[in-house]
Amino acid sequence: MHILVSNDDGYRAPGIQALAKAMEKFGRVTVVAPDHNHSGASNSLTLNRPLTVEHTDGDRLYVLSGTPSDCVHVALTGLLEKPDLVVSGINCGANMGDDTMYSGTVAAAIEGYLFGVPSIAFSQIDKGWAELDAAAEVAQRVVQRYLDSREDDRAMLLNVNIPNMPLSALQGIRGTRLGKRNSAESVIREMSPRGFPIYWLGAAGKPADAEEGTDFWATSHGYVSVTPLQIDLTNYKQVPTVRGWMDGPVVGNEH
Ligand code: MN
Repeated sequence: MHILVSNDDGYRAPGIQALAKAMEKFGRVTVVAPDHNHSGASNSLTLNRPLTVEHTDGDRLYVLSGTPSDCVHVALTGLLEKPDLVVSGINCGANMGDDTMYSGTVAAAIEGYLFGVPSIAFSQIDKGWAELDAAAEVAQRVVQRYLDSREDDRAMLLNVNIPNMPLSALQGIRGTRLGKRNSAESVIREMSPRGFPIYWLGAAGKPADAEEGTDFWATSHGYVSVTPLQIDLTNYKQVPTVRGWMDGPVVGNEH
């Protein structure tokens, strides 16, 4: 079994080092990770310049001058043999609800999934990896359960959020759906020392849908949250409506 490990916090982050070590239980581990922090990179690819790869630590670590998606993309399209599993993280901070749209951690897993490889994103709630050993142990158990339980070879994309607490304090593991956040807080405006305004994006919104069954509910009650994700953004319920409005020639035949 060959496992590709990536993240968005950069290859030096304690989270990816702990995750890579935890994955050694299942086979050969290769890390392909960004050279610096790309949190919030979402699924961005670098198309306006070439990427460089620094190859260190035998065949185990490749440091790439690109985004999380670049890392997995390059790994799967020529740098490595196709792995059996892609894991991403362990991110410093939650990726729940709407966060999944912006997350580089989730994006690295999405890239693996788009290439047909089972992919799992791991994030730890709160900043600072205070209970990183516990999170790495959880990652190991989630992967073990997935490998033991999957019914066929069809790849899944799982988003895992782990409360920042010791293993003994965790209540268990729960399958969940994504919750929803309120809109993000206001942008923070400051004056640059050179006299023009500068802006810092405000914090993510507080949970708006944190009902039982959501990732927010599970983690706030001490459970590890495991959400299966899909990529198709089509709003199927609205397709007939839009067809009714739009279908016809571009010019003429106005309703
Ligand atoms: Mn991050």
